Amino acid sequence: MDHPRRLIDLHTHSTASDGSISPSDLIDLADKRKLAAVALTDHDTTAGLTEAAQRAELYPQLGFIAGIEISAIFDENPGGIMHILGLDIDSDSMVIKKLCVRLREARQQRNPEIIAKLQSLGLDINMADVLEQVAGSHDPNVRVVGRLHMAMVLVKKGFVNSIQDAFAKYLGGDAPAFVDKERLTPREASAAITKSGGAAVLAHPVQLPCHNSAQLKRLLRDLIDVGLAGIECYHSQHSPEQTRTFLGLARELNLLITGGSDYHGHGKPDVSLGIPRVPLSIIRSDYAKKWFSDSE
Ligand code: AMP
Ligand code: ZN
Ligand code: FE
Ligand code: FE
Repeated sequence: MDHPRRLIDLHTHSTASDGSISPSDLIDLADKRKLAAVALTDHDTTAGLTEAAQRAELYPQLGFIAGIEISAIFDENPGGIMHILGLDIDSDSMVIKKLCVRLREARQQRNPEIIAKLQSLGLDINMADVLEQVAGSHDPNVRVVGRLHMAMVLVKKGFVNSIQDAFAKYLGGDAPAFVDKERLTPREASAAITKSGGAAVLAHPVQLPCHNSAQLKRLLRDLIDVGLAGIECYHSQHSPEQTRTFLGLARELNLLITGGSDYHGHGKPDVSLGIPRVPLSIIRSDYAKKWFSDSE
């Protein structure tokens, strides 16, 4: 596809979930980085998508893709992280909106449980502290509050030295204040994304507790059977070798290839928008035409 710009970032977060910059600022930054396209993929919410899409109209060379990131159950290992990205969803779809309401209600139960556990471990933290970390002017009924916000409070209050430390000592899967959240089955997540017009993409496969590529291939085949369309081959946590492995699997299984940074702003200071460099040319041409047609 002929496009004046060559690089894309299809995995980012804004203040509508646990990113630290607003959807508008994210779009401004994507244009400054000279990206050909950016997708906003907040956790469990479409709250930032309208603002981002409107802002992107200012930049004729920047394509905007509406997205979401949903947590799913990994059957083989219930503690394992499986995130599914929905790319190019219709942000007004009632299917996705209803799903977001359900996931947010589950978080409203879970967040006080995590805070109570932190308090029982002797830490002085309450919900008001957490809400102070939630930047932006999004409707409180649609934005998402999660563990990264709590990690920021723990750093700010000096209980831990870093976000990583907060997850290792308190909030992570094996840590004492962990409370799992409601997760969908991969079938439910993929179906909701597909019904909303989007492509369901397995996010950051490196985070799955798969020990080798044969195991990952088996998993991918199962996921394809329930509606998976693509795999995020490029991600800020993937080594070049891992990216090559994922690209090989994508080609073998005829999956869409995508990639992004998983940018969160200062909550994840080591991750920059547009890094790793993801070539626009990896996007299959029929999708590239559909996704980036506005930006030509
Ligand atoms: P939640 O959706 O509330 O479970 O929170 C998920 C957020 O926490 C995502 O932004 C993750 O990237 C972040 N997260 C999970 N584990 C870690 C970790 N070990 N270090 C840093 N961030 C993490
Ligand atoms: Zn996040
Ligand atoms: Fe994720
Ligand atoms: Fe993410």
